Formats: sequence, structure tokens, C-alpha cells
Amino acid sequence: MAYKYDEENIFAKILRGEIPNETILENDHALAFRDINPQRPHHVLVIPKGKFVSFDHFAKEASPTEIVGYIQAIGDVCDLLNLSIDTGDGYRLIANSGEHGVQEVPHLHVHILGGSSCGRMIQS
Ligand code: AMP
Repeated sequence: MAYKYDEENIFAKILRGEIPNETILENDHALAFRDINPQRPHHVLVIPKGKFVSFDHFAKEASPTEIVGYIQAIGDVCDLLNLSIDTGDGYRLIANSGEHGVQEVPHLHVHILGGSSCGRMIQS
């Protein structure tokens, strides 16, 4: 079954420059910007520039160059915000996907959360 990409999703509009965003960094294949409703002192979303709905879509259909560019952007955000476990206190990386993952925006994004403890991963 083919993945369906909604051209009118809010992150597509951000990529087209139709909606403002607080950009942290950008490369040829990815854009990182602050979440509008931050859950931690640092809450950044990293999105690929290509039209991918979810992480599994990206893993299956993105080119190696796109995958490298996207993963590098995630590492660069960690460095930029001093979240890397090499020099900082760490972070949580989340990719909500689909209905059970409770994904609101149907364009692949990872959340990078840091600046304070994220607590246990899933509350029972
Ligand atoms: P998710 O549930 O993983 O799809 O998360 C979507 C995230 O996008 C939420 O954390 C929202 O706060 C965030 N969000 C929605 N609209 C915007 C926007 N215009 N700029 C930045 N973040 C946004």
C-alpha cells in the first residue's frame, strides 16, 4: 500500500515558507525548528525536506543522501544545543507515527527534548 502525503500539512507549509518558524538549523535535506508548544526547555522538531509521512516511510523510500543529511541534522542540533551526551546532559528523541503513535502532523518529524529530565518514557 502506498503512503499518502498531504501537501497541506503544516510542516509542508513551513517548508514552502507559507508559515513562519523558529529555525535552529538547516541543511540540504533537513530543517530543524523550535516546537510551538515546548514540553521541555529545549524542544526542537527536525523534519526532512522530502515528502515523507513517517519514519518507516522515510526508511523505505528516502535516498541514502537524504537519510545521511537528515541524521546529520539531528546530531548537529544536539551539538548546537549542548544536549549531546558527549558534552551535555542528554535528550529524548521521539518519532510519533500514525494513529497508535498519536502523530498529529503527517510529515515525518522527530522531537528532540532536553534541558531538563524527560522522566520515564511511558507512564502506566
Ligand atoms: P506530533 O504529535 O508528533 O505530530 O507532534 C506535532 C508537533 O508539532 C506538536 O508538538 C506541536 O506543538 C508542533 N507544532 C504544530 N504546529 C507547529 C508550528 N507551526 N510550529 C512549530 N511546531 C508546531
